[in-house]
Amino acid sequence: MNNIHREIVDGKFCVLKFDQPGTKANLFNLETLTELDGHLRDIASDYSIKGVVFISAKERVFHAGADLRILEKMNIAGLKQFLTLGQEVFGRIASLEAPTVAAIHGACLGGGCELALACDYRIATPDRVTKIGLPETKLGILPAWGGSTRLPRLIGVTQALKVILGGKTPAANQALRYGMIDAIAPRELLLSVALGMIKGNRLPHRSGWLRLPLPNRLYSRLIAPLVRSRTLRETRGHYPAVLKAAEIVMASAASSEKESLARERLALLELIETDACKNLIRLFFMGERVRKSEGAGMKPVERVAVMGAGVMGSGIAAWMSSRGVRVILRDVDPKFLAKGLERIRKSFGNRRVFTEKEARDGMDRISPIATEVPLDHVDMVIEAAVEKMEAKQQIFANLDRQASHIDTLLATNTSALSLAEIAGATKNPGRVVGIHFFNPVHKMQLVEVVAGPQTAPETVQRAVQFVRQIGKLPVVVKDSPGFLVNRILVPYLLEAGLLFEAGARIVDIDEAMLDFGMPMGPLRLIDEVGVDIATDVTATLAARFGDRLRVPGELDQMVSAGWLGRKSGRGFYVYSGGRKIVPHAGMDTLRRSHTANALDSSQLQQRLSLLLANEAVRCLEEHIVADAETVDFAMVMGTGFAPFRGGPLRFVDVFGLSKAVDELERLAVKAGPHFTPSPLLKQLAIEGKRFYED
Ligand code: NAD
Repeated sequence: MNNIHREIVDGKFCVLKFDQPGTKANLFNLETLTELDGHLRDIASDYSIKGVVFISAKERVFHAGADLRILEKMNIAGLKQFLTLGQEVFGRIASLEAPTVAAIHGACLGGGCELALACDYRIATPDRVTKIGLPETKLGILPAWGGSTRLPRLIGVTQALKVILGGKTPAANQALRYGMIDAIAPRELLLSVALGMIKGNRLPHRSGWLRLPLPNRLYSRLIAPLVRSRTLRETRGHYPAVLKAAEIVMASAASSEKESLARERLALLELIETDACKNLIRLFFMGERVRKSEGAGMKPVERVAVMGAGVMGSGIAAWMSSRGVRVILRDVDPKFLAKGLERIRKSFGNRRVFTEKEARDGMDRISPIATEVPLDHVDMVIEAAVEKMEAKQQIFANLDRQASHIDTLLATNTSALSLAEIAGATKNPGRVVGIHFFNPVHKMQLVEVVAGPQTAPETVQRAVQFVRQIGKLPVVVKDSPGFLVNRILVPYLLEAGLLFEAGARIVDIDEAMLDFGMPMGPLRLIDEVGVDIATDVTATLAARFGDRLRVPGELDQMVSAGWLGRKSGRGFYVYSGGRKIVPHAGMDTLRRSHTANALDSSQLQQRLSLLLANEAVRCLEEHIVADAETVDFAMVMGTGFAPFRGGPLRFVDVFGLSKAVDELERLAVKAGPHFTPSPLLKQLAIEGKRFYED
């Protein structure tokens, strides 16, 4: 038991420093909570102590809260005990005579934030690693160590709802604006500023009438129905934790702390049993595994050349540079290079993300070039030029000469083209790999690392490590048209197009899938991707899977008419600037029949979701990725597939494999042979098996 170091400063101030051995984070489990409890009992009975500072010895973490592995392992009785202990320990902090302050540098999340909320003061460093918040609802649970009770008392119900329901983890600046912390101090002064605060023991002035108990109570009662209906609308009823958290935060204003804490405990024990929570926690652990750095010790990538300054090239360059990588950005066309640079400047201009200095440094690390230059000094080249095989092969053939160093990785960002064919243009295909970023690069965490038949295993490892180095989530996929995510997504998007063509209303199709839990309807998604790009990727997939890829005719007609989606102002919807988006009436001329207009929401959902899941099974069958979990994780992270469902294969497990086969066979007769269930799905259904054991 030595996870917390206790030190007495100036003879009367106690500093409790979290430093869990053998890990980069500090976490609460029964042992560490009990250890903290012991320190607090000692402090409470020692009248010579005039103040307590909580601080961390870790580089990037103040405290990351409860060890989530406990939620998976413990039974309900054990969990109840763990919850109660946490509430008691934090209650002990809140009731200490001596003033307390949390001196925060690094992640201060979940239980870590609840510990800070139990203190009298909170100060934090302005560093990028510092994040303070309560992300519990994103895991299907809620803050139940006093967070749902203390935060509204500290910052008012409205702000607390924003933080807790959104699972927000703001940086110091924003946390200060919310009122979650009292001050910001540089890391080197953090402890002395914290000590200064408790020496003065003056509670900071906290403004805002909504923080006072009575107005808070009246206001909560007033907004409760509104918040409830809004939450239901936004979550479509799929995320019970968000609704429950809203109820508890609002009720906390009208109850005693004790009552509210009891409600927190009860709610968490209920939520932990829900499928949504189980799936969200599984995805969280999968993310942790993907993030885990196996290739540690490999030389980090310092210099990269990006070929093509279009949407993707400029996005990739900006992202890498923001992570400290030096970038040569090359485009054949100076006009496009200038446009690309403008996009990068704009992204660095976001002051909520980058300070002025970070933005300046970020721009300085990028060297734009419109001519051909030797690339012997770069660690990696990423090609992000047009999606045409000849253009890519030409670039890779030149790279033999331009980037002749055998250790330089040659990567392509192709969406669907064959890596083997691209690599065939070079003399050394072993160093060619796919590094497929998704659009928009700064938002999408997933990156597919494509291993071609000739890619050397070390090349794949280095690519995976590089993706981790720049803070993205790598998933290794086999070289096959569309790889994993686009391969599964495209048939689903095309089916939405076919349904439209057959008479279903644009809004009905998209609403059905929003109800299913997708972040965006499929027709809206086609518009966002660009109808021309969707058609290009479809063409690549059709060359291989043409027999079961039915392409709706309206897509080509849309491209001819210049209705390319959001970027041209018209697609399935009309975009007139701002938020106003309405279905495009001109599309009605492209319908071929009205047979699908009788389909109701659940029929539309079933048709689209089963087709998508069937393709996911085919990918598993063809070993495009290693296992079912990777298919599911990639679809959630790469497309936003309803996270509460845990991914398309988990969805089929819940739907029932036999039922899925029956439905697909029925649809194959009625709507077309592209619905034919995959052999693996049929086989598992016959054997009475599932994709997951648990
Ligand atoms: P884009 O048309 O916006 O940009 C391509 C750029 O490459 C243009 O500026 C063009 O001038 C430049 N270029 C052409 N030949 C070149 C060469 N020989 N050397 C240097 N530059 C050259 O295209 P994009 O959307 O950025 O896509 C780039 C690649 O990324 C494609 O392979 C695409 O399939 C893939 N991708 C696109 C998306 C997406 O949603 N846009 C998503 C993932 C992957």
